[in-house]
Amino acid sequence: MDFEYAIIGGGVVGLSIARGLSARGKRVAVFDGEDTDYRASRGNFGLIWVQSKGLQAPAYARWTRQSAALWRGFADELEAASGIDLALVQQGGWDFFFSEKSLHARASLYQGLADQLGERDDFEITDANKLKREEPAIGPQVVGALYGARDGHVNPLRLLQALGQTLQRSDSKYLTGCIVQSVRALASGFEINTANGPVRAQKVVLAAGLGAAILGPSLGFVAPVRPQRGQVIVTQKLSPFIRRPSGIIRQVDEGGVQIGDSNEEVGFDDSQQLSVMAKLAQRAVKVYPVLANASIVRSWSALRIMSPDGLPIYQESRLYPGAYLATCHSGITLAAAHTCLLPSWLEGEESAPRLEAFSEERFAL
Ligand SMILES: Cc1cc2nc3c(=O)[nH]c(=O)nc-3n(C[C@H](O)[C@H](O)[C@H](O)COP(=O)(O)OP(=O)(O)OC[C@H]3O[C@@H](n4cnc5c(N)ncnc54)[C@H](O)[C@@H]3O)c2cc1C
Repeated sequence: MDFEYAIIGGGVVGLSIARGLSARGKRVAVFDGEDTDYRASRGNFGLIWVQSKGLQAPAYARWTRQSAALWRGFADELEAASGIDLALVQQGGWDFFFSEKSLHARASLYQGLADQLGERDDFEITDANKLKREEPAIGPQVVGALYGARDGHVNPLRLLQALGQTLQRSDSKYLTGCIVQSVRALASGFEINTANGPVRAQKVVLAAGLGAAILGPSLGFVAPVRPQRGQVIVTQKLSPFIRRPSGIIRQVDEGGVQIGDSNEEVGFDDSQQLSVMAKLAQRAVKVYPVLANASIVRSWSALRIMSPDGLPIYQESRLYPGAYLATCHSGITLAAAHTCLLPSWLEGEESAPRLEAFSEERFAL
């Protein structure tokens, strides 16, 4: 057998899993496609985001919290191994509100989740005065915010680069521009077919993002993922004026302000739309009026990978044991869990996290 694991997809999900496996001494091959593929890992907002996650799904809330708690240690190790600064800042984040009513409605949802999880001090209602002290540049239209202490942000491109580099330096292989055309279950293990010929691996993890829907059926998965477009705009570099990130605005370590993001059901269309970007920009100026004077230097759109209920899917194939599907729409937030916890699930260890709530069989019901 050439490898113990073949991972199809070299986005943040595939590479995080590969890092965890290779740290355990497993020989892994990651196959990644072409630059023309849809690649959420290269177009996201870089948040490690806990508040608002799993409001209707406590298992997802727990999984997200576990990952957020692991992030600092995961980043320290990855930075030491790669020499790349991930620009991780995890000192809390904001959810801004323009009306008291919506703030308190949201807060009661958060309280409901905190009660279910048995967690105290999970979030904090921050009124306009306190918010102004914490974020002096905040505009008068913001009536308050919800503060989540576990939230943070990171440079997602450096994360990807660091994961890829450390994998290259190990016994494992990171094969870019290498599309998997088909996968076949053998009497023992799997055969992965690419234009460069077949490769054999004991186990296979399908982490191909939106590409999972194409290869999934040959491994016994439905892989019911759909695209959801998000647009992001970036300003010129500015002196630091935003202390904490929010789901819609963050200032990166290099000074630019990222403004996002939309949630558009437009199929496989990753074009940009001025009308959507204008709305994002207007909302950002309402939050931080100083942004009205900033120039926009870049913008893009990218496609999220959404399951029908928005939660991750982790599934071992019933038809072909040893084949796994892993996909989610919060691959940055969950990168630490995917590296530190998912390998023990793939290895079938007793201490593995319980992931039944994320089986794709939930959709059959
Ligand atoms: C606008 C936007 C903002 C976001 N913001 C955040 C955020 O703030 N925080 C957060 O946690 N998440 C965020 N996300 C989600 C996050 O980006 C994704 O969850 C994550 O990138 C998914 O990673 P992935 O590896 O599953 O998929 P991808 O990054 O899409 O990677 C899949 C890879 O599989 C490869 N592939 C496909 N088919 C094949 C094949 N047959 N053979 C070989 N390779 C193949 C492709 O080339 C690709 O590189 C955001 C997403 C978007 C679009």
